Amino acid sequence: TETGLQPERLDLDPAPVAPERDLMSKFDPLIAERQRLLDSGVTDPFAIVMEEVRSATEAVIKGRETILLGTYNYMGMTFDPDVIAAGKQALERFGSGTNGSRMLNGTFHDHMEVEQALRDFYGVSGAIVFSTGYMANLGMISTLVGKGEYVILDADSHASIYDGCKQGYAEIVRFRHNSVEDLDKRLGRLPKEAGKLVVLEGVYSMLGDVAPLKEMVAVAKKHGAMVLSDEAHSMGFYGPTGRGVYEDQGLEGQVDFVVGTFSKSVGTVGGFCISDHPKFEAIRLACRPYIFTASLPPSVVATATASIRKLMTATEKRRRLWDNARHLHGGLTQLGFRLGTKTPDSAIVAVILEDQQQAAAMWQALLDGGLYVNMARPPATPAGTFLLRCSLCAEHSREQLDRVLGMFADAGRAVGVIA
Ligand code: PMP
Repeated sequence: TETGLQPERLDLDPAPVAPERDLMSKFDPLIAERQRLLDSGVTDPFAIVMEEVRSATEAVIKGRETILLGTYNYMGMTFDPDVIAAGKQALERFGSGTNGSRMLNGTFHDHMEVEQALRDFYGVSGAIVFSTGYMANLGMISTLVGKGEYVILDADSHASIYDGCKQGYAEIVRFRHNSVEDLDKRLGRLPKEAGKLVVLEGVYSMLGDVAPLKEMVAVAKKHGAMVLSDEAHSMGFYGPTGRGVYEDQGLEGQVDFVVGTFSKSVGTVGGFCISDHPKFEAIRLACRPYIFTASLPPSVVATATASIRKLMTATEKRRRLWDNARHLHGGLTQLGFRLGTKTPDSAIVAVILEDQQQAAAMWQALLDGGLYVNMARPPATPAGTFLLRCSLCAEHSREQLDRVLGMFADAGRAVGVIA
């Protein structure tokens, strides 16, 4: 009977569970912090829209002509006519995308060309292109070092390096930022027979400081470790042929793997690793961030090829970029700002502010005056610092930089950063 079935049905009902837990509630502190910042009257520094981009150094933001001093367009290649022409041609000949992995249907003529351009640029036998620089670090680190092996990394490493460690199964050892002594000490404690990879960066992007690669590579070799150097912020203008800090410090043939990106000096998007290791090609067979994602669109790799080939002979641009870095660094020092480095060591000049409030007020004053710089704060920055990061472009004119210095002087006085 119906009544006879009822107890059975009740038994089958699921046991009562707690009300659904909102997984988004963990973001409440972040939402509140952002709201406090907006309530203080500033534009959200992390929601800027480039309404128009006029050149490598100028855009329209909030309807206003703005000088760009916070992009990684170091060599100003984004509007190079040859680069644009190469992209257009590939777009027309090969279509807008590849629809697949490099492993399957996603390797086109242009992917082969860009890897050849990289081998020529770096003078090496091997080059593998990834969809971003982030994925190049993720893929290389997680694939190179496995269970029972060690990754030894600088404490101020880029997020992509940390994430590469997390994705792999190796033991992770951190050493104090740029400390050769600490690296030596930590390597000395590891089992002699275990495989080890020391991961370094040529230029550290937050403060724009340079690694003592020569000493670090010597220490790594002493302990039998291989070395990977991320040269994202030095490609194109560091070293005699623009290969990076490792070239500048005479380390060719000693750094086993160099990781780089197309999103900075090259002026488009993509990442890569180059190496002379005879078995380097095997990475393609085992590296998940290479295999399980779509390859870059042909237009993107074609622009990268054109740009990389031009960077090989861009001596004049290189000279202008370094002149610009010196001019800005000197001018800001003279105005009394506290900078990330004592000397102009790279194309990044970081202005150190006291706290979030001061950084936001200064950033806003600059933006209102027609200047865009990057605002950076913890956890991206070292030691809890608040930074306004300026990155120079070879295409910044002297007149633009003098206007920039004028804006920094006015904003710095208005906010009370300088006297
Ligand atoms: N490495 C470093 C040191 C970086 O600064 C960045 C990006 N800012 C990357 C890797 C990642 O590059 P991409 O933008 O190509 O993902």
